Amino acid sequence: MELAARLAQVDAGIEAAAHAAGRDPASITRIVVTKFHPPALVEELYALGVRDVGENRQQELSEKTAALSALGDLRWHFIGQAQTNKAKAIRAAASVVHSVDRPRIADALDAAATAESPVLDVLIQVNLTDDAGRGGVAPDELERLADHVSGCGTLRLRGVMAVAPLGEDPAPAFSRLADYSARVRAVAADATWISAGMTADFPQAIAAGATHLRIGSAITGPRPIPG
Ligand SMILES: *Cc1c(COP(=O)(O)O)cnc(C)c1O
Repeated sequence: MELAARLAQVDAGIEAAAHAAGRDPASITRIVVTKFHPPALVEELYALGVRDVGENRQQELSEKTAALSALGDLRWHFIGQAQTNKAKAIRAAASVVHSVDRPRIADALDAAATAESPVLDVLIQVNLTDDAGRGGVAPDELERLADHVSGCGTLRLRGVMAVAPLGEDPAPAFSRLADYSARVRAVAADATWISAGMTADFPQAIAAGATHLRIGSAITGPRPIPG
């Protein structure tokens, strides 16, 4: 199947899941995860109308945004583990950072504000597993981190992000995420975004209220081996 057909198929799936959940499909942003794929794929996606793309590694993000700077209205979402020494480069390239999971990375992103990036949209990544080694803040530290991010003058806290645990039904995991979203909204009323749902589980994420889907291989096809 061609790229355009896969994109259309995923979008039809999003629409069907939204209708099944009684939600307006227009309230859902589909981010195409382009990691490990060349800039030419992003250009193809752009020509098909895609305006939101996701990357999980800073270096790749920086290289692609530089190569594709002519696509001015493309929004780059950083969805990977963020390191404090890369905060400046991430902020220079990304419109949204989904993966704030500790106060230090919030501080580093905040300190990296420039005239070109006076305000940065960020999400708090929450760990839905019991494994502290996975990305994301532990749920019992959620309010404290939300409070901290809210106090960062150049960051706009938009909501929460999570990856469904491996080997668990995604539906109950996403339902926990919906609870975490409500807890963050109690701290920051505007933080209404829920970034959840990938190739394997986006219908369940939509049922649980996801507003931002991060879909890679269902649209792009299999990923090349990372370089
Ligand atoms: C790679 C990645 C995705 C997309 O995964 P697919 O299974 O290819 O849809 C989504 N979110 C994150 C954080 C990722 O790293």
